[in-house]
Amino acid sequence: MQNEPDALAETKKLQGISSLLSVGETKCDKCGKTIKYRDRYCCNSNECPICGVVFDTVSELNIHFSQQHPQERLRGTRYCTECSFKTGYLKMIRNKKTNEIYPAIFVMRDEELVDNSISP
Ligand SMILES: [Zn+2]
Ligand SMILES: [Zn+2]
Repeated sequence: MQNEPDALAETKKLQGISSLLSVGETKCDKCGKTIKYRDRYCCNSNECPICGVVFDTVSELNIHFSQQHPQERLRGTRYCTECSFKTGYLKMIRNKKTNEIYPAIFVMRDEELVDNSISP
């Protein structure tokens, strides 16, 4: 892709929920628990981690941060594994071929949702 004109970038939608692996000690913005190294967590790029306001586009987020939290680094809200399950961002999924069970956001081909009663 070529460089996008600024006007397009301004109305670009935020990516929403992404599932990440912790690379260091990060804190959950919801319960304050430390997300340990290599723990799975979710990041909601549409939500302000400080006041919980929800945005739709990149420019909304930029304006909000520059006006409300000029000292803060621009980022989304982090949810530890527990909070991700509570919010429903993460689900326990089983790979039908390998029978492996792991947390994920989406159910892909060859995967199925595991009954909630046995999720952590
Ligand atoms: Zn949490
Ligand atoms: Zn805010």
